Amino acid sequence: MTARILHVAVPTPLNKGFDYLATPDTPVQLQPGCRIRVPFGRNDKIGILIEERQHSTIEPARLKPIKAVVEHTPCLSPELMALGQWASVYYHHPVGEVFNVMLPTLLRQGKPAKQDPVLIWRLSSHGMTLEPSALTRAPRQQAMLNLLRLHPEGLSATQLKEHHGDWRQAVNALQQKGLVECLPAASLESRSRAATPSTGPALNPSQQQAVEAVSRHFDEFKVWLLDGITGSGKTEIYLRLIEQVLAQGKQVLVLVPEIGLTPQLLARFRARLSGKISEVHSGLSDQQRLAIWLNAGQGDAQVIVGTRSAVFMPLSDPGLIIVDEEHDGSLKQQDGFRYHARDLAVWRGQRLNIPVVLGSATPSLESLYNALTGRYGSLILEQRAGGATLPRLAVVDARQTPADQPVTRQLLERMQQHLSQGSQVIIFLNRRGYAPVMMCFDCGWTARCERCDAHMTWHQHDRRLRCHHCGAERRAEQACPDCRAESLHTLGSGTERLEDFLQLRFPHEEIVRIDRDATRRKGELEKSLQKARSGRARILIGTQMLAKGHHFPGVTLVGILGVDHGLFSADFRGPEYMAQLVIQVAGRAGRGERPGEVILETHQPEHPLLQRLIRQSYSAFARAALKEREAARLPPYTKLALIRAEAVSPDSALLFLRKLNDALARSSQGVERWGPAPAPMERRAGRYRAQLLLQAEDRKALHNLLRHVHELARQTPEHRKVRWSVDVDPVEMF
Ligand code: ADP
Ligand code: ZN
Ligand code: ZN
Repeated sequence: MTARILHVAVPTPLNKGFDYLATPDTPVQLQPGCRIRVPFGRNDKIGILIEERQHSTIEPARLKPIKAVVEHTPCLSPELMALGQWASVYYHHPVGEVFNVMLPTLLRQGKPAKQDPVLIWRLSSHGMTLEPSALTRAPRQQAMLNLLRLHPEGLSATQLKEHHGDWRQAVNALQQKGLVECLPAASLESRSRAATPSTGPALNPSQQQAVEAVSRHFDEFKVWLLDGITGSGKTEIYLRLIEQVLAQGKQVLVLVPEIGLTPQLLARFRARLSGKISEVHSGLSDQQRLAIWLNAGQGDAQVIVGTRSAVFMPLSDPGLIIVDEEHDGSLKQQDGFRYHARDLAVWRGQRLNIPVVLGSATPSLESLYNALTGRYGSLILEQRAGGATLPRLAVVDARQTPADQPVTRQLLERMQQHLSQGSQVIIFLNRRGYAPVMMCFDCGWTARCERCDAHMTWHQHDRRLRCHHCGAERRAEQACPDCRAESLHTLGSGTERLEDFLQLRFPHEEIVRIDRDATRRKGELEKSLQKARSGRARILIGTQMLAKGHHFPGVTLVGILGVDHGLFSADFRGPEYMAQLVIQVAGRAGRGERPGEVILETHQPEHPLLQRLIRQSYSAFARAALKEREAARLPPYTKLALIRAEAVSPDSALLFLRKLNDALARSSQGVERWGPAPAPMERRAGRYRAQLLLQAEDRKALHNLLRHVHELARQTPEHRKVRWSVDVDPVEMF
């Protein structure tokens, strides 16, 4: 009798599957995708069965038997197995770790693939008819009763905890009195589903065309680039398409950037769609995530809206994938398994034979290129929906403005003007803190991070210096640590200084600042957004956090500060990112009835790409930027991979990459190798970093070269001293 050999993906840094022996009680015809507990090193690990084999390259006598079969029905469908295996090859990342990233934590840990029934508590019929004043002598029970009155559909333990940290006692007491009942949530689903969704506005002709174009090809793979200016009604198009797919009884996967999963978006989805909507984001508990995973796999979740990792959701009957803000950097995982959720979404669409809609007001140059060359279908919306007009964009030369003044005189005058007309104003500055540099004016000393090649940012409000790269912080000294002179000063402006400055200029205005520091405490962000929405605060200062997704109809002026560095970034994508940010921020202006105005302050008013963006459009800018990319042989015209290494000792990373580079040189036909060189910020969080860039005209050559990169790396003695990684299609060049 020949031995049964199980080829298993085990989560380890070794980029291969491992062979094990089946035991006598291993079920016959075990399907790929089942979880299997295997011995590995000194521990057991949970692996995924890739396939059963007749032979192993290792003698059967030396193979170990598996420990147990965790489940007999695969937890990864054939489609997800194929996705994981393909992604492992494409991104040159160990297959076991890829599966590990795909699985919800509880499955990764070997827990059973079933959900504990979620219980909910709601008022009993007796509780509903009770006089509101009946329990005045038990104020906690009274409060709980009031809460449940507001939620006739019932609340889960998690939800109750959110409202009343210590809820159990009150609920138990009410339950004993027969006022509250407890039941499994599943039995209530029909109730929430029966709600009648509201209908949207009648589509305008461009929207109509877009919806028809996609729905004509519902049952085939096609990628559509929905390139529509901010406010042109893209979300409305998604909603119509989703309605149609739901009507066919199929599921929709919607990927959104981290910052895009706002309550506003979800509320709109809920109000309009009749299917069951599940949200997937980093705030979910392990149980919640598993529940959604299982529901999606069984077709119980009909619309799945989630950030990056939702691209791995199982789908039992998929009909459409939508990637909103497809240009957004958060769709790319930046450590470990460095996948791009948009690109994996396209892969899934092809495999599942369904359409994929990529939407953006500022498409990535990659997607634009695919649309221009005809690989993707192109849907263009050039006008704002519902009659609002695009704001006017103007450049203001900031070169004459004194360094300690965060905004130009021209912008102050425009602010005055808009405020006096009763409008709101947004000032965007993507730099938090008070000032990015603290300097001794006597000797030139500057406050630097001890662990990074970077300045520390001065935070005036709590009087601390913070490194925005590694999080290190310390109290500032009174005098210069070098020359003891008491002449420490700050240079440049962050949002804190901007706030102080504007408050002095506009003493009667309430200002809200929305950045990570100002919204750290729970509930703070909602409070600030509320002040902004209600119009009470008329000056809104913000970083990136304010740039996307929010809709403030009262804003008519947007000022954009401090984006010049994008034009000269060490990253060739700098100008693209800058343009996307400018357009997204500009899109916050004039979304209501009154027309908007956008002022961009710059020290580079003549820069040709900036001129194109301002005088023409994002699309004119993007076409010019694509020409530059083509001339410089940069993506999308060529393919890149970046090998990064870091180590605590100064030269190890560079040395490792040199050895690796030499080893790669032997099979590097068709691939240019740049470096190895120190990273633009060489030291970060106490580690020295270096990188080696690989560039090829076609993907095949690049992949041929990278195929052996793990093996070659392990053959260098230096690999033990470094952390290293491969990044295929990197979106950040550091
Ligand atoms: P985008 O996603 O492109 O930013 P939205 O779909 O959010 O655009 O639409 C912007 C605003 O215009 C929303 O308030 C939306 O309700 C409204 N809107 C969208 N389509 C129409 C339409 N056909 N008629 C009237 N208003 C519309
Ligand atoms: Zn000094
Ligand atoms: Zn630091």
